[in-house]
Amino acid sequence: MKVKTTRSQLSLPRKSAVDARSIVRGMCLVMILVASPVAYSEDASSPPADPTAADSVPTLAVTDETQITIKELQAHAAFLASDTLQGRDAGTEGGRATAAYLADELKHLKYLPIGTDADYRQAFGAGYQNVLGLLEGSDPHLKNEWVVIGAHFDHVGFGNPLNSHGPFGQIHNGADDNASGVSCLLEIAEALCGLPAPKRSIAIAFWDAEERGLLGSAHWLANHPDLSQVQFYTNIDMVGRMRDDSAEVFGVRTLPGLRSMLARSNAGDIQMKFSWAQRDDSDHYNFYQRNIPYTMVFSGLHYDYHRPSDDVEKLNFEGIEKIAQLLTRQMIEVANYPEQLTFRDYCRNEHINSPPLASLPSRLGVTWSPTRQKGQTITLTSVEGDSAAGKAGLQVGDELVLINGVDVREIDNFIEWIRRSPVHLDMDVVRAKDRAEEQISLDLKGFPLPEGLLAARDAAEPGVAIVTSVTSDSPAAQCGFRQGDRILAVNDGVNQENRVWDIERNGQLMKLSPAVTPLP
Ligand SMILES: [Zn+2]
Repeated sequence: MKVKTTRSQLSLPRKSAVDARSIVRGMCLVMILVASPVAYSEDASSPPADPTAADSVPTLAVTDETQITIKELQAHAAFLASDTLQGRDAGTEGGRATAAYLADELKHLKYLPIGTDADYRQAFGAGYQNVLGLLEGSDPHLKNEWVVIGAHFDHVGFGNPLNSHGPFGQIHNGADDNASGVSCLLEIAEALCGLPAPKRSIAIAFWDAEERGLLGSAHWLANHPDLSQVQFYTNIDMVGRMRDDSAEVFGVRTLPGLRSMLARSNAGDIQMKFSWAQRDDSDHYNFYQRNIPYTMVFSGLHYDYHRPSDDVEKLNFEGIEKIAQLLTRQMIEVANYPEQLTFRDYCRNEHINSPPLASLPSRLGVTWSPTRQKGQTITLTSVEGDSAAGKAGLQVGDELVLINGVDVREIDNFIEWIRRSPVHLDMDVVRAKDRAEEQISLDLKGFPLPEGLLAARDAAEPGVAIVTSVTSDSPAAQCGFRQGDRILAVNDGVNQENRVWDIERNGQLMKLSPAVTPLP
């Protein structure tokens, strides 16, 4: 157990794995901090290095130095959670030194300063400072839309009965809360500027005074010149204590397709526990309140939360690295999102125990006589206008004779046949109008489902079939389908023996290929 230093025993930071550049900068800050505490006094007017207007958007090629590395995560976290910053309480010396460090990092990465007066910092309240930088988008129009990713950098200083679980009076280093999130965001910021610029612009935000009531993000949103420009937000708060490679993920109901997007971005194979709760205890909430869709990743609560014992030694850097990879990809996907990033209002009234599921759209879109049996063709009794059949011009009274070379009279359970059928159908049809035989081709809606499972759809997850039940011992059960699985795609067009379903389970992508039984 590291002895906690009290205010009077302050000393220079430990020599941890800080790279040269951070050491020099950290030391400069510390020197200023220690050398002239009196001179530095309460006003935030003289931070060490004023950033000049950053030049052009970062290079497009991915370079080694923009890789997300555990070494750099450790370097940032060691400094941020060092005693020197005195628990980074908002409006204190430690808080402002942290802001200076972050502004310097953004300047080094050549982000555009979007704080106040061409600075990275945005001063507000009682000596608080947000730190903000922009990576300009590549699309002439969409670059005016901003997708924001943020993390609060302040913590509770020496702690008191209002903000700490005690003991009070000792430095609360806030390693997990939220040096982990800030380090994660610094590496994401570095990685993003090593990738091809996406269509929309990406804003990096380090919030101050979150512990005092989400003040930094509230101030920025309340004073943003054109809030319609802010299209999306990702929040990183406490990502340093991942257990069993799993993390809680919030916000996926606020924008259609977010869950699949996170799964596609999940290279590190994080187990995601998707929560539909709209928590109000971190900066995402200010965006949610303004109908801005968001995501938030959280590695979970622990005993050291808001205690002096929340130290850097307890951080799981492999976990932070995985989350940094995940969110870098997610931000690129959101910044290139093909449609408008429209907030899903419905998410305000949803509960995970009663998901708004609807039946899958019918693949063909026709009805026939309920008394029809094997040995008979199928005569249509209704055709949905917007269905695959409707679009192909099938009419009421048309008789289906041959489908993909199969004699319809041989088909026993036509519903099940269509459910499991490949997407593309070539049909021989006897027309009702003139009894002429015609060849008609069409593509069924959705994708084939394996025998033994039922699925439904959810407007928040377009293009996905959600498994609602799996019959035990069925082919679907035998190869591992589970209730709640998301079917994303199937390699259609191959013969059924080689069919493979791409599914998502708890944010992880996997492939399943059930044993195939002959069509009924
Ligand atoms: Zn926090």
